[in-house]
Amino acid sequence: MKALDISGLTKTYKGGVQALKGVDLSVEEGDFFALLGPNGAGKSTTIGIVSSLVNQTAGSVTVCGYDLKNQKEKAKACIGLVPQEFNFNQFETVMQIVLNQAGYYGVPRHVAKQRAEKYLAQLDLWGKRHARARELSGGMKRRLMIARALMHEPRLLILDEPTAGVDIEIRRSMWKFLKEINEQGITIILTTHYLEEAEMLCRNIAIINKGIIVENTSMKSLLTKL
Ligand code: ADP
Ligand code: ADP
Repeated sequence: MKALDISGLTKTYKGGVQALKGVDLSVEEGDFFALLGPNGAGKSTTIGIVSSLVNQTAGSVTVCGYDLKNQKEKAKACIGLVPQEFNFNQFETVMQIVLNQAGYYGVPRHVAKQRAEKYLAQLDLWGKRHARARELSGGMKRRLMIARALMHEPRLLILDEPTAGVDIEIRRSMWKFLKEINEQGITIILTTHYLEEAEMLCRNIAIINKGIIVENTSMKSLLTKL
């Protein structure tokens, strides 16, 4: 089964920028997949469309077997998204933020509390559960975004430049955590402009440039080509 299947995806923004010019991409369930490319290549646009935040101009997208056109709600429930920008309420506490997310997806309260404890502990945030988001460091905010994205236990976790601006020690611990949850079965797709990050983590990779996929291969065979 495919976690993600994209075909002929195009996006032209108002004003005329052609961000995507016919993207085909598929990601197997269980994969750890990197979408690599320079700034402006179309990475955020692609995952924005996949997570139903941006409307495509043309093409089709299927998430865990659900077509975005007519099964959007089911598709959305399969995805945990970690966007680049911190988009939580800075005045809420860490605990409130993760529990509210669970509530949004209809997770029962007692289940949500158990998950919150598990993910906040694994992400080294349990000690901060009563802190307001604005009191957290950049690295802690990133990890909070990951914990929040996992609260409805999505089958597919999508992260947009997850370690941007995070120092190397915290980056390594985030990598370790992502590898562990991938081994437990969750499919992960991340965007990055660091080949090194993709190399550390991913089995398969697509390279996007100017809205076109220029390479789509296993990490291993890409590295032998370089
Ligand atoms: P990346 O994530 O790879 O940096 P983006 O998907 O953010 O690339 O951007 C692809 C192109 O689309 C860029 O030229 C960018 O300036 C443009 N773009 C992105 N978002 C918008 C928007 N909301 N309106 C107009 N142009 C946009
Ligand atoms: P940065 O903002 O530089 O990405 P953090 O502020 O998250 O990093 O972490 C700074 C230091 O605090 C690190 O040495 C890390 O090990 C430690 N740290 C991170 N999370 C916690 C926590 N919940 N409680 C105590 N120490 C922590």
